[in-house]
Amino acid sequence: MFSKILIANRGEIAVRIIRACKEMGIATVAICSEADRDAIHASLADQCVCVGGTAASESYLNQANILAAAKLTHAEAIHPGYGFLSENPEFAQACADHDLSFIGPTGEVISRMGDKDAARRLMKEAGVPTVPGSELLSDLDEARREAERIGYPLLVKARAGGGGKGIRRVDGPGELEHAFVTASQEAQKAFGDGGVYMEKYLSPVKHIEVQLLCDEAGNVVCLGDRECSIQKHNQKVLEEAPSPAVDPDLRRRMQEAAVKAARAAHYTNAGTVEFLLDQDKNFYFMEMNTRLQVEHPITEMVTNVDIVKWQIRIAAGVELDFTQEDVQLQGTAMECRINATAPGTVDFYYVPGGPWVRFDSALYQGYTVPPYYDSMIGKLIVHCPDRESANRKMQAALCELVIDGVPNNIEEQLTILNHPMFKAGTYDTGFMNQLK
Ligand code: ADP
Ligand code: ADP
Ligand code: MG
Repeated sequence: MFSKILIANRGEIAVRIIRACKEMGIATVAICSEADRDAIHASLADQCVCVGGTAASESYLNQANILAAAKLTHAEAIHPGYGFLSENPEFAQACADHDLSFIGPTGEVISRMGDKDAARRLMKEAGVPTVPGSELLSDLDEARREAERIGYPLLVKARAGGGGKGIRRVDGPGELEHAFVTASQEAQKAFGDGGVYMEKYLSPVKHIEVQLLCDEAGNVVCLGDRECSIQKHNQKVLEEAPSPAVDPDLRRRMQEAAVKAARAAHYTNAGTVEFLLDQDKNFYFMEMNTRLQVEHPITEMVTNVDIVKWQIRIAAGVELDFTQEDVQLQGTAMECRINATAPGTVDFYYVPGGPWVRFDSALYQGYTVPPYYDSMIGKLIVHCPDRESANRKMQAALCELVIDGVPNNIEEQLTILNHPMFKAGTYDTGFMNQLK
């Protein structure tokens, strides 16, 4: 096992990983930007290295400085968390080149699945259903021809996309040029890769994803599904596990497809296969996230498996010590993402407690939320034997949670939980547009 790990991230996920390390007896090194010297992750770790300026490009994305920090502190492995360098194949390879274990799949696997167009082709070959669409588009003329073939409405999607960026909906031929150009530009700016392709826009659909753990000996275990259809601008807002729309037979078929996907990719470590599910219970591969997912805690709650600890063990060469038969999904877990809607200073802070309530956050009283990074400031998670009581527990916990001084979305989460369509479990990805 590793004796020291560097956590190349910030915020709640850095705190989450530091906790896992502490419980495993592993020493921790945090990194921070100049704007994050007062951040809680920096003081919770055994050591902290300031790796650069406020801009993420100077610090949390600064590969050379992060590798140097790992070497200087004699860390043996790097956990990238989510976002930042977590899906950067060059960084995973650079870690390997510097004799550091990257806690995630290899750079080769990350690039195989990170190129969504290449991933779609690989899935088709493996017999995993994909959304009807095009391959990478070379120019607008090709886009026009392909759009006629696929039919409207459709989505122009960046092959390097993530976090909801680089996606444009096109309802008719008149909108194609604008969508093609802006999706490409946005992707070029965000990912340094302007390549785009198209997919048929499916509606109404649910976003259902399957969590996997794959060890280096080739054992693959599915940790069930999560439903993430409550989205704003293609970004998840509230997630639950398991999906209320997935019956045992459908669950078995989706898990089989997810395992097929992972095997086709020669996948190792924790990963998530995202699917769209239509009203006739057809499901289609959307993408594979080759990293820890924001919403991993709800899976931890219903399976009793600590995903972060297993990520670390798998990277250290440990084999999974349980099989698919050991995984029993218990009850329902829900997660509300608490987002800052503007920067601010926490001047009064109260965190809910009680049984089966978990708050993953990096806030504290007096902390100033900086405007430079992700707006997510916490994740409130509850676990109950059934969906209805999980909803009630979440509402009670949200009412207790106080983050004065930082404008946030707690009220909006309560509105979602009280909506009849949410209560019925029949909501789809269009839910947030219909809200109000
Ligand atoms: P998930 O399915 O885990 O929610 P997302 O595609 O929404 O995955 O992205 C993961 C998270 O990382 C999101 O909260 C997103 O805002 C954040 N994120 C993505 N890219 C970056 C980045 N470059 N810097 C900081 N956070 C990022
Ligand atoms: P990202 O990498 O940014 O997470 P995804 O490909 O996972 O991008 O898509 C993000 C969201 O956009 C999905 O969760 C879903 O709500 C919506 N979406 C993506 N593809 C389609 C599609 N073909 N039809 C309808 N909705 C889609
Ligand atoms: Mg996605």
